[in-house]
Amino acid sequence: MFDKALAFRRSNTHEALNYDDFKKAVETGFAFSYWCGSGDCEEKIKEETRATMRCIPIDQAEVLGKEVPLAPGVCVYCGKPAQDRAIFARAY
Ligand SMILES: [Zn+2]
Repeated sequence: MFDKALAFRRSNTHEALNYDDFKKAVETGFAFSYWCGSGDCEEKIKEETRATMRCIPIDQAEVLGKEVPLAPGVCVYCGKPAQDRAIFARAY
């Protein structure tokens, strides 16, 4: 059950490193994006795309089923430095 869910999520998860890609990703599935941790960004993202933050995976490399660089990035919404990537998806 868990493996199935994980496989499903992997095949529907898109790495989105900018807001345009983010919006496309949540149209069709999950977005895996850097997020600065700010509740303001989370709110704005929710307002504009209807996507909400689901989780910050402990093992970031596990999400896409491949190694991903664990370097810090910039928040997909505000562009501030971000340590972690989070998974976002639309709530229905
Ligand atoms: Zn932000």
